[in-house]
Amino acid sequence: MPAPTPSEFAAIYCGFDAPIAAFDCGKKCAPHNARGVPFCCDTRHAVPTAYQAEWQYLQASTDLWHPWEADSPRETDHLRSQTPAGQVLIECQGHTRCQRSFRSMNCRSFPFFPYLTREGEFIGLSYFWKYEDRCWVISHLDSVTPAYQQAFVAAWDALFAAMPGEMDNFHRHSAATRQIFGRRGRAINVLHRNGGCYKITPRNGRMRRVPVESLPLFGVYKIAASLPFAGED
Ligand code: SF4
Ligand code: SF4
Repeated sequence: MPAPTPSEFAAIYCGFDAPIAAFDCGKKCAPHNARGVPFCCDTRHAVPTAYQAEWQYLQASTDLWHPWEADSPRETDHLRSQTPAGQVLIECQGHTRCQRSFRSMNCRSFPFFPYLTREGEFIGLSYFWKYEDRCWVISHLDSVTPAYQQAFVAAWDALFAAMPGEMDNFHRHSAATRQIFGRRGRAINVLHRNGGCYKITPRNGRMRRVPVESLPLFGVYKIAASLPFAGED
């Protein structure tokens, strides 16, 4: 499978640097994590992966990252066996030592993945549903800046042009997401590359434009909002 060179990854990183929101969303979610760490920076919740060329670039450029290993070899082997071919599991030095310019594609994209329609068109950003209960951004998609959304789309357009096989992978992931949401009778929320927010009916792919502010809260953020004297969550 063709792949971007390490220097092409550097260029993709450069164009994909906009923060996800106008403030540090980690400060919103970290208080809800027992470790006091943003969930996406805690390998108990999410272990980042890097593409091989990306890993080469990171290893040559920074000491931020090392290969991830679980506490037990069995757990390490288990997660490695589930990791897509051509990717490695990595771990950084921790959220207090983050180097923003060397965040991986995973870090920059979280909690989103490129959503592809049944026909295989990359139309925008949807999120990994597994993190609905803990990622503050998923409950507040109205906070995701247009600059971030545009940078996300441009970065994944570039990556798909260099790695067409990845487009197939996300086509399959989008189909799996449709199956899961379809079974649950739920619509999929997508921040479209045209700037709008849409609900997609998994069964038939029908898209309805909705105000992004109308989307629901999940998990701890829903609970917090229902409490008396609910304030900033
Ligand atoms: S993207 Fe989600 S999990 Fe990561 S820091 Fe922001 S709110 Fe927390
Ligand atoms: S590199 Fe930064 S954003 Fe990525 S997991 Fe580490 S601390 Fe979090």
